[in-house]
Amino acid sequence: MRTVEVFDTTLRDGLQVEGVSATVDDKLRIAEQLDLLGVHYIEGGWPGANPKDIEFFRRARTELDLTTSTLVAFGSTRRPRGKVDEDTTLRNLVEADTSAVCIVAKSSEYQIAEALQTTLDEGAAMIGDSVEFLRGEGRMVMVDLEHFFDGYKANPEFSLRAIEAAVVNGASHLVLCDTNGGTLPHEVSEIVAAVAAHVRDDAIIGIHCHDDTGCAVANSMAAVEAGAGHVQGTLNGLGERTGNTNLTTVIPNLQLKLGYECLPAGRIERLTAVSHHVAETLNRAVNPQAPYVGSSAFAHKAGLHVSAIKRAKDAYEHVDPALVGNGTRFVVSEMAGRATIEMKAEDLGLELDGAVVGQIIDDLKRLEHEGYHFEAADASLELLMRRAAGVVPEFFRVESMRVITDELPDGDFTTEATVKVWVGDGEDAERQVHVAEGNGPVNAIDAALRMAVGAALPALDRIHLTDFKVRILDGGSATGATTRVLLSATDGERDWTTIGVSPNIIEASWRALEDSLVYGLLQQVG
Ligand SMILES: [Zn+2]
Repeated sequence: MRTVEVFDTTLRDGLQVEGVSATVDDKLRIAEQLDLLGVHYIEGGWPGANPKDIEFFRRARTELDLTTSTLVAFGSTRRPRGKVDEDTTLRNLVEADTSAVCIVAKSSEYQIAEALQTTLDEGAAMIGDSVEFLRGEGRMVMVDLEHFFDGYKANPEFSLRAIEAAVVNGASHLVLCDTNGGTLPHEVSEIVAAVAAHVRDDAIIGIHCHDDTGCAVANSMAAVEAGAGHVQGTLNGLGERTGNTNLTTVIPNLQLKLGYECLPAGRIERLTAVSHHVAETLNRAVNPQAPYVGSSAFAHKAGLHVSAIKRAKDAYEHVDPALVGNGTRFVVSEMAGRATIEMKAEDLGLELDGAVVGQIIDDLKRLEHEGYHFEAADASLELLMRRAAGVVPEFFRVESMRVITDELPDGDFTTEATVKVWVGDGEDAERQVHVAEGNGPVNAIDAALRMAVGAALPALDRIHLTDFKVRILDGGSATGATTRVLLSATDGERDWTTIGVSPNIIEASWRALEDSLVYGLLQQVG
């Protein structure tokens, strides 16, 4: 089995995406996740380009304990007509103190003439000198050959000369970059094969693609099939413009479909968890439709599929979702047939008789008619089914609640909630009355409820609300319309979403909040 190295550039190229920024702490946490996944290389950033990356490499030395991955610092070749030992970029790169470095080099005639305004001789010398200098400092040197495919198409002799300059001076990797992202798979195959025939075993050929034609993953696979042994990309395909090669897609494609070894044994199962963890850290949710790791990647809705998949797991799934740490999901809606509910119940370990299943289907139809939408709120559906089966303990019961919002003379608003709750089940229940302030009604109710039941149910501490979405369902009647609230929460291990619907936004929020807390408690205390 041929090994294909995985080089992650989430912490450098990936952070070029609009609207995403990461603190040094975030970057350290992400690096730990990447190590857990088992990628070969983690590109940590460009020391010298910004103070944050200098701090990252400084802290990484003592705070990161990588067991599988090698940390790589990124930089560029020396300036035109400059000297390597006086070059700030190269000095910063050495000071990052990593065993491996990756430098970007111009490898196209057009870029050297236009962007650098220098000669091809000087262009090749910049690469050769820089690699030689960094090798002299004891570093493993990878070279990112920028605009390689466009340059090769226009002037292959010079592009190969750039490669030679890197190889003869000791570069370990020649990373062919489709910087503008416009190259197509058949062109990548042809050019990588030509380069591989030229380079032989003198260096490892790498591939770095951008997704501007939607072909980054296909291009990376084409490169591997043509002889590349190193794939660069980002988790969840983060990156400038349309993004970089999505590692969460290309890794399982190469490993599960084509038999290349990309990750150490037993690690690819962590793919879904790591993908979601990193997305959470960067506050950028994973696309539900992302291949392999998306929440819909193995979700089945149509009644026909569901009854077929009940008979044979692989009838409508291209791989076993467990291989990448994901799972089959049966999406239940008013369209659901009996088979879907039975499947879902089996999934949850519930034994339901025919009458209970019929009751659940009737409830679903009625609630969906009122505006509930269970496809988006798995946890509420699960509770509905568990309640129908009579297996949900009563953790607490609300006697009454009141929310007051005041506008103060200075224009600020304050919100205060009072809740009266019975904590516990049946005769042992104890009455608690608590008042709390919040920055809005949901926040205030949440705070008061936690004060009331927190002492008896410490597991509540681990449940945090992460997202709150409100949608007006019947826009025609304006403020008289029905409100649907979707509430997402996490306990650090699982994420779940619940739903509440009512003409009163506070009531809708409360329904979603109650389900969310009960669901979270059920997960923790059984
Ligand atoms: Zn790039």
